[in-house]
Formats: sequence, structure tokens, C-alpha cells
Amino acid sequence: MKQTLAEIISIGDEILYGQTLDTNSHWISGALDQIGIKVIRKSTVPDIEAEILTSFQEAEKRADVILITGGLGPTKDDLTKPLLAKYFGVDLVMNQDALNDIEQLFTKANRKMTDLNRMQAELPANCDKITNQLGTAPGMWFKERGKIFVSMPGVPYEMKRMMTDFIIPRLQKELVNYHVVHQMIMTIGIPESSLAEKIRDWEEALPKHLKLAYLPTKNTVKLRITASGPDRDVLKKDIHEQVDKLKPLIEKYVFGFDEGNIEYFIGKMLKEANKTVACAESCTGGFLSHLITSIPGSSAYFKGAVIAYSNEVKHNMLNVDTETLEKHGAVSEEVVIQMAKNVREKLNADVGLSISGVAGPDGGTEEKPVGLIWFGYSDKEKTIAKKYNFSKDRILNIEFGARKALDLLRINLSEK
Ligand code: AMP
Ligand code: MG
Repeated sequence: MKQTLAEIISIGDEILYGQTLDTNSHWISGALDQIGIKVIRKSTVPDIEAEILTSFQEAEKRADVILITGGLGPTKDDLTKPLLAKYFGVDLVMNQDALNDIEQLFTKANRKMTDLNRMQAELPANCDKITNQLGTAPGMWFKERGKIFVSMPGVPYEMKRMMTDFIIPRLQKELVNYHVVHQMIMTIGIPESSLAEKIRDWEEALPKHLKLAYLPTKNTVKLRITASGPDRDVLKKDIHEQVDKLKPLIEKYVFGFDEGNIEYFIGKMLKEANKTVACAESCTGGFLSHLITSIPGSSAYFKGAVIAYSNEVKHNMLNVDTETLEKHGAVSEEVVIQMAKNVREKLNADVGLSISGVAGPDGGTEEKPVGLIWFGYSDKEKTIAKKYNFSKDRILNIEFGARKALDLLRINLSEK
């Protein structure tokens, strides 16, 4: 059984000039991997006819599926559509369905359509139109000489929407016969190297068709087990067996088994526990609340936050004692305890989280260096504080600090 092979072609001078980063091919690679299609090459070509045509010819020789992004704008510099017609030896014809889509977009936006926009509905005669939910350039699906060509707009969010809604499901239906199954194990609070130590024996004993990858980002490390072969159910079972062996080795660091960040898992946990949270943020300036509210549906469990950056606000809005602030300083156990407890009570939440630290680059002292952050956690039964030392980098401190606070929430919620 042969695995389906794909190539990705990014079209656009702006990528070659270094003005636009080719994020499309990166994203598409990931999406194809998810459905067991192997990307064997990615290339970027300029808005030049001969280069584009050559790239089509070469890709067609090597791959089963050729995914193209870019060059679909209404203006003269965008060549992909007429060149696809030329490549397949067909004419451009008005696609009524595509025209309706574009007209609808303009009606919705209350804008007047131009002739250039109308021309965007002219497509090569041999393609299936792919609806663009978010823009005027339709996508195109070709099946010629046993190969599939797909052309999508360069605008990343338009491309992603087409891939997700239409292209991936159709590729799966038409040609996927080989499977790649990934299982994520999301960990937090342990560096990659220590994690590797803990699971070394398990890793060495993994069966040959299972591969392990360590993927660190920010303060989480994602472990990915990948299995490939013809039978998806067998692969799933094999992975499941290994995860069961792995779990007890790193139980306290694992926060989930789906692709997803800590804020996503926290959201799930809070919803399941039917609990609400409120935040009192100093050095993170709202970033913790931003993470929490970046998850759709967070209104079910997020009450709100007080960004208590100054001592004045800590006192006026959160009733932190002036005396405590003066005696221990804003970055202290005593202050985060009061912040967490008081924000919980004031905002009528089940849990209060607080953060106060020295983000840097200035403001550090010997006793309280840049990167020192205190965290508070408060629920109806207890209020606790913890401190950690992060880095000298302001933005990293903010990002790591906010995620650490979420981890504190996770640990305390899972104790219940
Ligand atoms: P186009 O479809 O060529 O009109 O592209 C529209 C816009 O999409 C360009 O101006 C770029 O900003 C963006 N774009 C095009 N190709 C890519 C790519 N490979 N990765 C990320 N953005 C892109
Ligand atoms: Mg372009």
C-alpha cells in the first residue's frame, strides 16, 4: 500500500522578497500529516509565468496531490488562475455558483461589485469551484491525469477555512488509504530533559512503528507519539497501550491528551467542575485573563479580572492593606494572598488567582530579582501562595507567569 504524496507550491513575489513569511505551507503540511498524506516537497515561486508553469509540471511528476496557494487576487499580478487554465488546456468560463458567492459577500458587506470582482468568478472549465467563505477569490479543485491539483488564495485565513471545510474532507474521501495517528501528551512544569530522563526506559522499549517526539513551547512540553500503517484501529490500540504504560511515570505533569494549550484544558476543567474564576493581575497586565478568554465559551467560567498594576489599585480595588504593601512590598507572599482572596470575594467567583512579580528589565533588587513572580490561589477552603523565578526577559516572564498561574489552578482543581 502506497502512502499518498503531496507537494505544496506557494506563489508570490512577496515571499521571495522576504516581505511575507510563508506560513501557508507550514500550516498545510501539518493538516496533511494529520490525515496521513506525506508532504515530500514545498517550493516557493515568483509571480512569473514560466516559473509557475514549470513548478506545476515538476510537482505533477513527483506527487499525487499538488496544493497551491497565492496568485488568486483580481489584479494583473496574480497569474495562478489563467495559468492553471493554460496548463490544462481549457478556457476560463463564468461559474454561476462562484458569482453568486461573490455577490452574496458584497451584499453582506454593503459594497458595490466591480468588473474585476465579477471576473473572479471566471474559472478554468475543468475545475470544481471551492467556496471561499471569507473572500472573493474562489478556490479550485482539479482532477487530471490521475493527479489532484488544488488552488487556494494566499490569504492565510481564507486558505485555512477552505482546507478545513472542503479540501481535507474531500482528500480523505478520495484517496486516503494509509494512516498516521498521533497522540499528544501535554505536560507542564517539567523541562524536556528531565522528562526524557523519567521516561527513558519506556521510550527505549517502544515498538518500531511508534515514534516519539518532544515538542517544547513556552512552559509546556508536548510529547507526541506517532504511529503509521494501514489500519487505523490497530494503530490506535497500539498507542493506547503505550500511553497506559507512560501515564504513571509522569502523572503529575500531564494536563491533557488532546492537542491544545493549558488555557484550553483549564477551561474544560472549570466547566466540568462547574466552577468560576477571577483574576487579580499585576505584572502580567491582563495576559492571564487574555489567555483564559481566548478560549471560546470562557464566559461560562471567567468572572473577570482586576489589573492591579499600581499599589493604589491593589489597595482601592482589591482591599490589599496599605500596611502589608509597605511592609512586604507588592511582590510578596502576603500581597498575592490578599489579592487572590479578595478578588475571589469581590467578583463572586469560586476561585481567585493572583500574580505579582518583577517582569523587568528594571526594578530588580538582590532580594527580589527580575523574574521573581509570586502567585496566589484562593478557593473557599484555602488560600495559598507560591513563588517562582523566571527569566530576565520581560515578555517571557509575562507569558510564562500567566501560564504558571493556570498550572497552579490546574493542580489545585485536580486535587479536588
Ligand atoms: P494572493 O492570493 O497572491 O493575492 O495573496 C494575498 C495575500 O496573502 C498576500 O498579500 C500575502 O500577504 C498573503 N500570502 C500569500 N501567500 C502566502 C503564504 N504562502 N503564506 C502566508 N501568507 C501568504
Ligand atoms: Mg499574489
